[in-house]
Amino acid sequence: MKKLVAFLLATVMVMSMLTACGSSEAATETAAEVSESADGATSAALADGVLTVGTNAEFPPFEYVGDDGQPDGFDMALVKAIGEKLGVEVKIENMEFASLVTSIGSKIDIAAAGMTVTEERKQTVDFSNPYYEAVQYVVLPKDSAIASAADLEGKTIGVQLGTTGDFIATDIPGSTVSSYNKAVDAVNDLINGKVDCVIIDKNPALVFESKFEGQVVAVDGAQFDFEIENYAIALPKGDAVLAEQINKAVEELKADGTFDELVKTYIEAE
Ligand code: GLN
Repeated sequence: MKKLVAFLLATVMVMSMLTACGSSEAATETAAEVSESADGATSAALADGVLTVGTNAEFPPFEYVGDDGQPDGFDMALVKAIGEKLGVEVKIENMEFASLVTSIGSKIDIAAAGMTVTEERKQTVDFSNPYYEAVQYVVLPKDSAIASAADLEGKTIGVQLGTTGDFIATDIPGSTVSSYNKAVDAVNDLINGKVDCVIIDKNPALVFESKFEGQVVAVDGAQFDFEIENYAIALPKGDAVLAEQINKAVEELKADGTFDELVKTYIEAE
């Protein structure tokens, strides 16, 4: 409702500006202008000048809680840079990963959470162009004998709830899946011997391997026949203007070197 009111207000403002200045007037780009495409279509998500981004800050290096208590990480830096390009304020909402997709369009405008593009999620949301390639890894206790897809059968597997690791683990014959809201809790239960392995994305797996050095190892999912995944920003279904603006902003950030800088700072530095 707030969004609708803000959107209507923005529309009225734009219309009165057009009347006052004439449509040819060159002005600095405002959020209201960014929310409109060349053919006049608008984005409800951009119209209020605030882009509310949902994340789950339990997924280093893409998102974690920084020393100042605020969500930080690659995705957070990326959405802030996108916000700057679009001239909108970025507000981060830290929430459970499993709630992100269904919160788009109500609590949040978009989600940036190392989220893999899946056919199932596409029923509910649209995705930006992919921005990062990933694969699931298997985190094992240092001396584990698990080494192949067949070895995972019948095992107790820790995962983060509602993630692609969760979906893969559920499909393994005879598996018992223990799901956690925080990935680190799954790794703690691995160390405590409560689960046999943890299936989680490559980069967080590597972060946990170094955090719990000597206790766990992270093994490439290729060894278990896991497929390549692509991360993208989840968007409200049908908001083509927003998708176009976000894709354009990411392209610009790639072209001007910002994107590579963020990869170096947040991902390759790990
Ligand atoms: N890439 C995984 C997924 O989309 C995990 C994301 C996460 O835990 N933040 O499901």
